Amino acid sequence: MGRSLPLFFEENSEPIDRRIAVGLRKLGLAMKLQAWEQANHEGLSPTQGQILATLSLEGPLSGSELSQRLGVTLATISESVRALVDKGAVVKRPDPRHPRASLIELTPQGRALAQKVTTLPDAIVSAVGALSTLEQEAFLAGVVKIIRSLQLSGHIPVSRMCVTCKYFRPNAHEGALPHHCAFVDAPMAGRHLRIDCGEHEQAEEAQREDAWRRFVQPE
Ligand code: SF4
Repeated sequence: MGRSLPLFFEENSEPIDRRIAVGLRKLGLAMKLQAWEQANHEGLSPTQGQILATLSLEGPLSGSELSQRLGVTLATISESVRALVDKGAVVKRPDPRHPRASLIELTPQGRALAQKVTTLPDAIVSAVGALSTLEQEAFLAGVVKIIRSLQLSGHIPVSRMCVTCKYFRPNAHEGALPHHCAFVDAPMAGRHLRIDCGEHEQAEEAQREDAWRRFVQPE
């Protein structure tokens, strides 16, 4: 008969959700430090680096749009944009959508700088690459769910993910590629879900809720 071992860890472990949250905080800190180092290396503040990265990904944006994307105040954006104009990294031009507003746009110099600060650190890419395919897929699904939840509670700005996109058709097909992107009219699997897609267009609230229901509970 086998020896009965004490269930020490059943009684002496932090709940798993808390341990995952602690792990995410450590990862977030590591990512932030890397981003700061990259920005600092180019003579930029962290916010200036984030502005360049966002403009590079999305094209010209207004100050309010940058404030919304980065989750920082309009005053902080204005101050950083002024510094970036002085460095010759961005220019302001009239916003055709709003006669009295301006759009902030990268200059060729700003585009080159953006490329440098948006490169993902090798250490992080290789750490994620060391996970098995199954682990990566489960991680991606978890990340999508956590980001959506934080967006709904207003803790992070809107991220351009498939699950909030008007082109996303969850569980539209049988088989290994169950989802569908109506923008490119192609099927996709869970491992193809995008976290920051250039073609993303935010769906109306009712569509987002319906898509999420069909995504997590296929009919
Ligand atoms: S356009 Fe992009 S975000 Fe939208 S469903 Fe297609 S891949 Fe996903």
